[in-house]
Amino acid sequence: MNGSAYSPSPGRYDGCMAYRRCGSSGVLLPEISLGLWHNFGTAVPFSNAMETVHAAFDNGITHFDLANNYGPPPGSAEETFGRIIRRSLAPYRDELFISSKAGYDMWQGPYGNWGSRKYLTASLDQSLKRMNLDYVDVFYSHRYDPQTPLEETMQALVDAVRQGKALYAGISNYPREAAARAFKYLSEHDTPCLLYQGRFNIFDRGGRVDDPSLIQFAAENGVGFIAFSPLDQGLLTDRYLNGIPAGSRMSEGGSLKESALTAEKLSQIRALNELAASRGQSLAEMSLAWILSRRQVTSVIVGASSAAQLRKNLGALSSPPFTEEELRRIDEICSSTPTCR
Ligand code: NDP
Repeated sequence: MNGSAYSPSPGRYDGCMAYRRCGSSGVLLPEISLGLWHNFGTAVPFSNAMETVHAAFDNGITHFDLANNYGPPPGSAEETFGRIIRRSLAPYRDELFISSKAGYDMWQGPYGNWGSRKYLTASLDQSLKRMNLDYVDVFYSHRYDPQTPLEETMQALVDAVRQGKALYAGISNYPREAAARAFKYLSEHDTPCLLYQGRFNIFDRGGRVDDPSLIQFAAENGVGFIAFSPLDQGLLTDRYLNGIPAGSRMSEGGSLKESALTAEKLSQIRALNELAASRGQSLAEMSLAWILSRRQVTSVIVGASSAAQLRKNLGALSSPPFTEEELRRIDEICSSTPTCR
């Protein structure tokens, strides 16, 4: 499709998408958001990336999650998104909620990662240029930096908001104690934390931050919780039921290693797939619905390598409710996995 000819579906807000309030803020986010970590770098045809973003917006997905380092190479996902903004989405900027982050390795030298004011400030300026934006809706500190005073990192977020380069501040992958200090600092500086972004799915219930109760903790602080890798990078779909398909994330050997697909994991995936089928849905749909059944989760950020994949996953929004027996069965299937407890 020619991007300049794009006009979004007039029914984009009349379909199945529901919007949830982000903590105690004024912001509503779609239950399903789109993340651009993979599949939007230079190796992917631009037309494919644009079609996926358009499919998202056509179906009521208003939130697009980016970071400085998404690609590969780092920065290229923001560049791709910037091209889409310029070609077709700029007229709809006020309908879009766009995030970026800084925290992981971005450029060489001592100022290209972690949590210094120097890094966060320069990185946000770069992200805005790449995305052809005047501001992002939320700017995150992507990870906790134990070597930098938390106050310095938080003040950089506060100043980004005061300068109008971001409307809200967020944190991601922070351990609970640091998250508590971050929430407090941001509140005391009139920039309440909008979102905590954490890994959460059937197989990994918060393992990275060692605290599955972070969802509850965020809610108690009036902060929204947004779940990343809700499909465990594709493991919680039918993608790997019959081997490792060419072109899949696992076949590329990057963030999802073949070693993740142990015989035990495969048998768990098969059992979950059967349970999903008994509920009349795909494993991907059930996995997303399982997260969204927690009312304190604001949104799940899915990844997608095609528009078709994304559209299929929207079926999660009309999922039947879980019975106690089904929830118990999911826990039972995963019980040998430490991150499921
Ligand atoms: P998911 O767990 O949703 O995995 C997405 C992958 O699953 C897709 O690329 C695709 O793999 C596969 N998939 C999706 N739907 C289907 C389907 N219906 N059938 C078969 N396979 C399917 O999310 P991601 O790991 O991509 O993370 C989502 C977003 O979360 C990121 O883009 C990013 O925005 C955010 N994130 C944030 C992090 C942080 O530190 N704050 C860390 C990681 C992610 P394939 O490519 O093989 O087709």
